[in-house]
Amino acid sequence: MVSDYEKTGVITLKDLEGKIPPPERFKKEPVAIVECTQEIPCDACIPACPRKLLSMKNIISVPSLDFDKCSGCAICVGKCPGLAIFIVDMCKAPKGKAWVTIPYEFLPVPEVGSIVRALNREGEDVGSAKVVKVARLSKEEKTALVTFEVDEKLAMEARALR
Ligand code: SF4
Ligand code: SF4
Repeated sequence: MVSDYEKTGVITLKDLEGKIPPPERFKKEPVAIVECTQEIPCDACIPACPRKLLSMKNIISVPSLDFDKCSGCAICVGKCPGLAIFIVDMCKAPKGKAWVTIPYEFLPVPEVGSIVRALNREGEDVGSAKVVKVARLSKEEKTALVTFEVDEKLAMEARALR
């Protein structure tokens, strides 16, 4: 069956069926959402996870994640060349809010505390967001890990910012 991504170039929640943890999992710990749906020869996320929670059947298959053991550490987010992994955190965020961590490669990198606009997978503005954390896996890494706070209902929708 042709996926929505193959038809439009935009990943939809339908494409991610089976890749999203059940609702109760979000209440336990932050968790990675692996939005990698294309069969391409890449496996950079596999050795990146210190807990070895990501697996692939072969070099072109899409990765699977053992949700239950994921700590949401975001190492895989910074190591994915496809910018296809995100962290959703509904534990540390205030009630009714979610924290979303995205890989960010534009300049300037937004500052902690700044109010920005959250964008969905199609690049559409879906609401206001507050930047709560900016990190890098190392000083040399060009990819920043930007965490922003949005309404909880946007946790699986907001995937970029401007
Ligand atoms: S967030 Fe951390 S623990 Fe979870 S899959 Fe990625 S690297 Fe592994
Ligand atoms: S590193 Fe990223 S693009 Fe490559 S297989 Fe893993 S999730 Fe997909």
